[in-house]
Amino acid sequence: MTLLEGIASARLRIDEAAAAAGRADTVSLQLAVKTRTPDECREAAEGLASLGLPVLLGHNRVQEATATAPAIREVPGSRISLIGPLQTNKINRALACVDAIDTIDSPGLVDAIDARAQRIIDVLVQVNVSAEPSKHGVRPDDAPRLVDAVVESEHLRLAGFMTVGLNSPVEADVRAAYADLRRLRDDTADRVGVATADLDLSMGMSGDLEWAVAEGATIVRLGTAVFGPRRP
Ligand SMILES: *Cc1c(COP(=O)(O)O)cnc(C)c1O
Repeated sequence: MTLLEGIASARLRIDEAAAAAGRADTVSLQLAVKTRTPDECREAAEGLASLGLPVLLGHNRVQEATATAPAIREVPGSRISLIGPLQTNKINRALACVDAIDTIDSPGLVDAIDARAQRIIDVLVQVNVSAEPSKHGVRPDDAPRLVDAVVESEHLRLAGFMTVGLNSPVEADVRAAYADLRRLRDDTADRVGVATADLDLSMGMSGDLEWAVAEGATIVRLGTAVFGPRRP
């Protein structure tokens, strides 16, 4: 399968999941490009563009985002999100190359980014809905306070929520965690006075995108479904 075929078949899978879930709104495909070379990242961005899709790429590491951003930026309209944890000492480098930070997990991180940012930056609050200790993200109980910190900041714009789903083959359990994030999104929209549709839900990966789409995902992050097995 070529990269273009991989993207097209992933897109079809999302469309089928959306249709099966009776979804009429848009579910976007973001390519998770960790460990991909600059050339591969550009090819992926070109592939999305050539299919008429939004050029959305997600990077786990600031270092890889920095190294690949120039190649990705050759493709007009490309948008790079950080989908891995951000350490305070890498904020400036992240701000220099990404359009969005999808892994906001503490008020301290909000303050640190706010102090350094010189423009508005879109962020997603990352929530650990599965409560697995290995996962990053704010605890659901602490999410409202974190949301408030984002809303009160000068430079961060709340664009929605992100989670890495429960690692389980049990559909009901995985979906319950995604449903928790959706409810948090809905409650937040009410509470801060924005439209639900203006808050994204980034959830679902190659192994479980159908379950995430059924629970309301508006962005799915796909790596292996498009690129093949992960590299070490
Ligand atoms: C790697 C990664 C993905 C994509 O995972 P696949 O199972 O390869 O589709 C999505 N989100 C994050 C945060 C990742 O690190």
